[in-house]
Amino acid sequence: MAAVTQLARYGERHIARGLNRLTNAVIKEGRGSYLHMEDGRKMLDFTTGIGVAGLGHCHPKISKAAADQCLSLVHGQCSIAYHEPYLKLIERLIPVMPHPSLDTFFFWNSGAEAVEASIKLARAATGKQNVIVMQGGYHGRTFGTMALTKSKTVYSQDVFPLMPGVFSVPFPYWHQCGLPSSTPTSELVQHCLFQLDLTLSQQTAPSDTAAIIVEPVLGEGGYVPAPTEFLQGLRKVCDKHEILLIADEVQSGFGRTGKYFAIERSGVKPDIMVMAKGLANGFPLSGIVSRKEIMDRQSPGTMGGTYAGNAVACAAAVACAEAFQEEKVLQNVEARSHELFGVLKGLQKDSQVGHHILDVRGAGLMVGVEFGSPSGHAHDKFRRPDAPKTLASRISKRCLEKGMFLLTTSVFDVVRFIPPLNITKEDMKKGTDIFSESVHEIVR
Ligand code: PMP
Repeated sequence: MAAVTQLARYGERHIARGLNRLTNAVIKEGRGSYLHMEDGRKMLDFTTGIGVAGLGHCHPKISKAAADQCLSLVHGQCSIAYHEPYLKLIERLIPVMPHPSLDTFFFWNSGAEAVEASIKLARAATGKQNVIVMQGGYHGRTFGTMALTKSKTVYSQDVFPLMPGVFSVPFPYWHQCGLPSSTPTSELVQHCLFQLDLTLSQQTAPSDTAAIIVEPVLGEGGYVPAPTEFLQGLRKVCDKHEILLIADEVQSGFGRTGKYFAIERSGVKPDIMVMAKGLANGFPLSGIVSRKEIMDRQSPGTMGGTYAGNAVACAAAVACAEAFQEEKVLQNVEARSHELFGVLKGLQKDSQVGHHILDVRGAGLMVGVEFGSPSGHAHDKFRRPDAPKTLASRISKRCLEKGMFLLTTSVFDVVRFIPPLNITKEDMKKGTDIFSESVHEIVR
């Protein structure tokens, strides 16, 4: 125990203050749905390292594939030559893309790098400069992606001016629209598409606009699925004005929402899709995919990166894709999602705590619970964007005390469930029991 405290104190002293964390405890090992801490605690992990370890920590097949790759080739630099795992990964990914025309790839290390690359590609492919993003959207913390991220000012605080040419429109989530939570989805969508039209006529002309980037499920901004009619509306606007539609599936991809990619639910075809997180189950790997004619608008040499598409990460991603099929992960997501929603909707109806729960939403195992005002009129209340996340943070802390990691979203009073996609029925029950107990203890 003393060693843990010492190690944690060491971290506090020597790690930059700019890094925030849920706890100062030290993780020693990860196994499946659990993290084993230095102090001996075994924590149920409903965060999966923010939606990364979808197949659980240290999945044996994925870890073995990475270990084997370490003994044959660690670094096959992509600007020197092809390497096998890179090509095998493409072979594995093509059949699961949301549309067969999405068949040309490039890989990077992080989600933000891949998002930046998607913007660079959209600019090159269209010869236009500006980008439209969603208010509440999150796309990363690098210099370019800070300008695209509109979920919280802290991400770009103290670093202005940001990359120019970025315009934001509301996402169909009542907080982002300034409308009551009782507003029908169709009205929210209409409002947002109208604002988009206004933006294109008042702020950035279609002839200057290269791309619209959207998360099919708003992640850090509140775990809100984009309504199908909204995504279809974006597609129409893009088609009309020759603007490229970029789907940021960094968090929602690879089975998280019960489909391989969340955009599939809408039937909408993105021009460019950004992937990361679940792609390699924890190994740093990200990528973009597009149609060949779009990708080929960039000259040789414009893409690259020393570690981009690292051989070990690609080998892990290949094993991850294989395990995904072998273990019928999507079926498990459907079953566990049903159980999770059952418990959460039950809590919403509970006579003691239900009136504090404003919304239960999401898809698959990307689920948010939003807490609201205890006034009894919670469903029609506005929530100030700067109001503290009182209940969500306290409940997350109580879950931590009870042996479970559970995150909140970066804004609004929302907790988010991102458990492993292959979580067992027993562990899902354990997690939902801990959550229910915590809600009952905190919300009184
Ligand atoms: N896009 C989305 C939708 C994300 O959720 C994230 C990370 N939370 C990113 C981009 C940035 O990814 P990374 O942290 O790997 O740079």
